[in-house]
Amino acid sequence: MSDGLGSDNTASDEIARNRYLDILHQFTLRQSSLEKLEDIVWNIAKTAIAELGFEDCVVYLIGDDGVHLKQVAAHGPKNPVDREIYNQITIPVGDGIVGHVARTGEMQRIDDARLDPRYIEDDDFRLSELAVPISHQGRIIGVLDSEHHAANFFSDEDVRLFTTIASLASTRIDTALAMERLEKTVQYLEQARSELEEQAEELREARQAAEAASVAKTHFLANMSHEIRTPMTAIVGFADLLSRDDLDRQNREQWRNQLTQNARYLQDLVGNVLDMSAVETGEVSLHFETVSLVEAVTESVDSLKARADAKNLRLETVLTGLLPDAIIMDRVRFKGIIVNLVSNAVKYTEQGGVTVTLSTELRGTDAVLSLVVSDTGIGIDPMQLDNLFLPFNRVHNTHQMAGIEGTGLGLALSREIAHVLKGDIVVSSERGTGSSFTLTLPVEVPADISWTEQQRANPLSVNSCQVTTETSADRTQDLCDLRILVCEDSVSITSLLEVVLGAAGALVTFCTNGKSGVRWFEEQVDAGRPPDLILMDMQMPIMDGYEAAGHIKRLRQDIPIVALTAFARADDIDRCLAAGCDYYLTKPIQIQTFTKELCSICAQFGK
Ligand code: ADP
Repeated sequence: MSDGLGSDNTASDEIARNRYLDILHQFTLRQSSLEKLEDIVWNIAKTAIAELGFEDCVVYLIGDDGVHLKQVAAHGPKNPVDREIYNQITIPVGDGIVGHVARTGEMQRIDDARLDPRYIEDDDFRLSELAVPISHQGRIIGVLDSEHHAANFFSDEDVRLFTTIASLASTRIDTALAMERLEKTVQYLEQARSELEEQAEELREARQAAEAASVAKTHFLANMSHEIRTPMTAIVGFADLLSRDDLDRQNREQWRNQLTQNARYLQDLVGNVLDMSAVETGEVSLHFETVSLVEAVTESVDSLKARADAKNLRLETVLTGLLPDAIIMDRVRFKGIIVNLVSNAVKYTEQGGVTVTLSTELRGTDAVLSLVVSDTGIGIDPMQLDNLFLPFNRVHNTHQMAGIEGTGLGLALSREIAHVLKGDIVVSSERGTGSSFTLTLPVEVPADISWTEQQRANPLSVNSCQVTTETSADRTQDLCDLRILVCEDSVSITSLLEVVLGAAGALVTFCTNGKSGVRWFEEQVDAGRPPDLILMDMQMPIMDGYEAAGHIKRLRQDIPIVALTAFARADDIDRCLAAGCDYYLTKPIQIQTFTKELCSICAQFGK
């Protein structure tokens, strides 16, 4: 019997062992293909129910804080949907049966939960509970837990299987956890790196913008200094001359005109700067009136005639097609834009000329006016076309183009005003060939105004650019009989120096640019009568004062060159001296002491 019983027991032990091994074998096989933490824990929960016949199974893992257990997989009546945990609970390590296992590492089998005060009811009260630790290398990382409605449900075999499953899975869970943490760290580092890169890029852009703003500001200040000092020289000088007692009527008239002209120039300059700030704050005021179109255009172009003549440039206005006799327009703004475009064309052209073409297109009762200013000048680099209209921006290297005055405000202001008038200015240009600026403006045409067919071009006059004047002196004066070459392109300053140097007894020759100055100097040297002194403006068209001073010094070291510069910064002065000048005087010059200073310079050179 006992044999029989013994053999029955042996047989059932054998079956149990086979089932046990089979479950573990299947479990190990399935787990071996899993890598992600989520797959591993859900597989455990399902195995417990499918293979062990449990009612439910929950996998808890200790969270990153190390003191709470979080449900990461739960299968059973409460959680029928695959991979969804209903009312996911968190248990502090140490609390309840699960918390106790996590703290002590001891397996807990409860046969009747009613008798265990640690039991925490979740969705329903169940009498049996089995909780086993998941530990790896002596460290508890979680708990495997199952409950059953029946009391005394879990057998010794269940305990062994559940414990073995927990132990088999622990390495995989730990590795998957480490991988997850690593991935999170990599993601975090990757995000931090891209944020740092973004910040570095923002910083780089901010630094570039600050540097560009600082360069533009420095250029603007240098240009403004030049733009202000040149007319100031004329204003202060002529004001001094006007205070003399012995003035004849003609001189008084002429000098007062010079003073007024230069004061107006300064007024316009300040007006431009104020207009620019008004445009930037959107506070431009317009004054519309009936304006004679052709008159407004020709007047504006004519005002640049003298400058074009001085550079030997052709300046012509072409009127084409039907043009209204009058338009409704802000006269000052309209003429201001034209003057700006034409004066730029003259400024940036050394050979050939400037053509201003006016046409209109009828649109209903109104018209769209088109004014094209084209020149045969230096042109603009295509890369720079976008920057042309930025305030205070001069796109050419102004050091290499000394003599071309400007603040970089004109185009920005003109286009802004064109926009305020609902029009636009566009540019096309080719480096070394020329530029073409087109102003388009929609204009209102008064009802009673007639349209006239135009087909005419009116070339304006062409003159020689070089002004060479010799004045004779009174022998008792500071600069008696000294021969002075003055290279200066500003008409006002030339007039002022003519009076001041002439009155001091000098014999003066004026040249309007460095090239004609050098040529005149060479001729005089060849003829054996070089001048005693040279006054050199540093910013001039065609050839600037730096280059001219270099040429002259290479020919003759013994003739003093005095730089007249409107740039008053230390590096400008260094540049003058490095170019070959012996002295420098900054504008505005002091008329009272000017000729005495020149006299003492000549004396130092034995003149
Ligand atoms: P600026 O006072 O320097 O002339 P603008 O705003 O009128 O200022 O012009 C901005 C820049 O555009 C100039 O410094 C010059 O480099 C370029 N520019 C303007 N007009 C012309 C032109 N007709 N030909 C070549 N370059 C021009």
